[in-house]
Amino acid sequence: MSFPLAHPVDTTRIDADTIVTYPDGDLTSTGTVLIAQPVGDGRTAIVLDRTAFHAVDPVWPDQPADDGTLSVDGVVHPVVGAVVGAIDGENLFVGDVPVRTGTEGWAFVVCHVVEDADGLTPGTPVTVTVDPALRRALSAGHTGCHLASLALNAALAGLWSKEVQLDGRGSPNFDQLAITESRILPDGSLDTYRIGKSLRKKGFQAAELAGALDTVEAAANELLAGWLATGAAVSIARDGDGLGERRTWRCDLPDGTVEIPCGGTHLRSLSELASVTVDLDLHEMEGALELRMRTAATLSAAGTAEPPRAH
Ligand SMILES: [Zn+2]
Repeated sequence: MSFPLAHPVDTTRIDADTIVTYPDGDLTSTGTVLIAQPVGDGRTAIVLDRTAFHAVDPVWPDQPADDGTLSVDGVVHPVVGAVVGAIDGENLFVGDVPVRTGTEGWAFVVCHVVEDADGLTPGTPVTVTVDPALRRALSAGHTGCHLASLALNAALAGLWSKEVQLDGRGSPNFDQLAITESRILPDGSLDTYRIGKSLRKKGFQAAELAGALDTVEAAANELLAGWLATGAAVSIARDGDGLGERRTWRCDLPDGTVEIPCGGTHLRSLSELASVTVDLDLHEMEGALELRMRTAATLSAAGTAEPPRAH
């Protein structure tokens, strides 16, 4: 969802980021309307002071937005999209923010886009409700995605001939150095890596990858199965509760706690997952190699029964 215009807003109502409660796993919240900004096509972006709704960040759109509603006095307004917006002191940018989320001097806000904004005027108290099934499936996909990236890094460690930056477990960080796109899906993810000249220069033995692909995939899947068997705890640490604050995914793997910067939502424990497996595919793409990793993260039967956290 893209809205090309910067909308002038009365910023006397906005002096801080939207307070976000989804990192704690919240599925409902109450807040007050701060801005109701028409964005074309009869749609309106609603900014609240506080929300449980996860919005997609167009700068790095890995996890899609939640599904859900805004309700006022029993009237339910379906949210048709949710994007990160930003205010520079004069204008509200909806989904077309010219700076990275967290940039100093800007307020970052969740824009809940609705088609029917009747009654959603500034000052109105609103109840936010998030679809629990989609959230849970995306959280499973996102937790699986982080684990898979760590497993891939470890499985590829032998293909590096020079020292490069390491991930949280001490493996050469192939994921960070080569990733071009990451998409969190319900119960999985799809990560795309480009292996070109610059990665070869850093010491990645690209010519050996095709022959080693099956071994790498098997090694990653073995690591993943081992980690899942520990039922390790997962949490999100954060500097503050504003949307633009830095957040970190933490998982207590057997060889130590691993941290990865992350703006998404996650499960609370690896025991909620029945399996995480990866499938690797390597092909040529515009003079380079492209590696695609499809991750399947299956929730365990017990995990799906966990009740939503009330607030
Ligand atoms: Zn993440």
